[in-house]
Amino acid sequence: MAERMLQFVTHPQVLPEKRDAAERRQDFGEIYRGFARSRAEEQASRCSQCGIPFCSVHCPLGNNIPDWLKLTAEDRLEEAYEMSSATNTFPEICGRICPQDRLCEGNCVINKGFESVTIGAVERFITENAFEQGWVKPALPDRELGRSVGVVGSGPAGLACAERLRAQGYEVHVYERQDRVGGLLTYGIPSFKLEKHVVARRHALLEEQGIVFHLSTPVGSGEGETALEDLRARHDAVFLATGVYRSRDVKVPGAGLEGVVDAIDFLTASNRRGYDEDPGEDAALHAKGRRVVVIGGGDTAMDCVRTSIRQGAERVTCVYRRDRANMPGSRQEVYNAEEEGAQFEWLGSPEAFLGDGSVSGVRVLKMRLGAPDASGRRSIEGTGQHDVIEGDLVIKALGFDPEDLPGQFAAPDLAVTRWGTLTVPPGGFETSLPGVFAGGDYRARSEPCRLGDQGRPGCGRCDPSSSD
Ligand code: SF4
Repeated sequence: MAERMLQFVTHPQVLPEKRDAAERRQDFGEIYRGFARSRAEEQASRCSQCGIPFCSVHCPLGNNIPDWLKLTAEDRLEEAYEMSSATNTFPEICGRICPQDRLCEGNCVINKGFESVTIGAVERFITENAFEQGWVKPALPDRELGRSVGVVGSGPAGLACAERLRAQGYEVHVYERQDRVGGLLTYGIPSFKLEKHVVARRHALLEEQGIVFHLSTPVGSGEGETALEDLRARHDAVFLATGVYRSRDVKVPGAGLEGVVDAIDFLTASNRRGYDEDPGEDAALHAKGRRVVVIGGGDTAMDCVRTSIRQGAERVTCVYRRDRANMPGSRQEVYNAEEEGAQFEWLGSPEAFLGDGSVSGVRVLKMRLGAPDASGRRSIEGTGQHDVIEGDLVIKALGFDPEDLPGQFAAPDLAVTRWGTLTVPPGGFETSLPGVFAGGDYRARSEPCRLGDQGRPGCGRCDPSSSD
């Protein structure tokens, strides 16, 4: 037993095979290949089965990671799948896109000295293998409860809620403003991290489960939109999982110049098209032949950087006001971007967008790191020195803030925090409107984080899409 628990000494960490950077710059295919069975079992065996598994402690879903690693190492793959899917609606997606180096793998006990267990890659293998073996089945209810729930939004929170409620016997209707399900999984995250057939496969499974999807059906108070009040009348409960999409702005001179765009608009336009498709009306949101400057240091910024490269940008520079060690995004994403040819301007804060009508560059104030703040993170201060980065497409990837949901839904009684997220009781999900629940990015944290920012989405420490 003791020998088995020391496998991490004799078996080094092996990462999944990655496609060559020169090749992957040419398309939007996923860059990582999946583990073969023998490799997945070997890598799973490196887990030392900690008494206190910090991997699970730091998993937002509380996944039973050591348990399914052990089952994988013992070639009990169907049980591993059952264990993994018990706490996760789509482990094959989390295995691909979770920022593991900040969560489970970053807190893996053997990380110091022996490199972490490759948890994400094993998780992906377990579910992909389960699909191949025919073990993945829709979670059909034993009985119908005769009650219905309307879910607003089909991103991760909406889909997870829908799947779990349908399994319990609720009739579930999902209302999605876009023409495909997935929210950011479909329109935000590029295919080189998550190919869209993976999301479509889950969508098909959820339909088989009996969930009814109403696509191209926005909920709100505008013309042609379905009113929240109508959903409350139609269903016994409503779950709001609309996601936080309002781009944080950078208030500097020149912000209105042509060629200064928001990350979400750029990524959505790219995800709507195939790789070879002509951008057509979306040419303003296409990087081909342009000098691109991406502002931000989160994973959304890296998605913009790497999408620009694949679209054929002449040059791509990412500007971030802190340094590499203090950025919120995944280190691996930065490394992948560098491999693909991106340049980084660390310790640079945009001071003005330059140009006459159209943007031609960004004036950057050089920063330096100061003393650590209360959370231990280094503060920053200006040095007084400047730099100019030439660019004719500037993409702002500074994170997202909540929309005005009470206004959007014409529901003034819908209580929100000072950050605009929906107020729920500690540990609960019900908003101030009876029978209306909230989840995902819009649900306020029930406890203050280390900085006391209760209710604020994406301070940058736990949300890699932020760019703080
Ligand atoms: Fe295994 Fe690492 Fe989790 Fe410990 S922290 S149980 S070694 S995966």
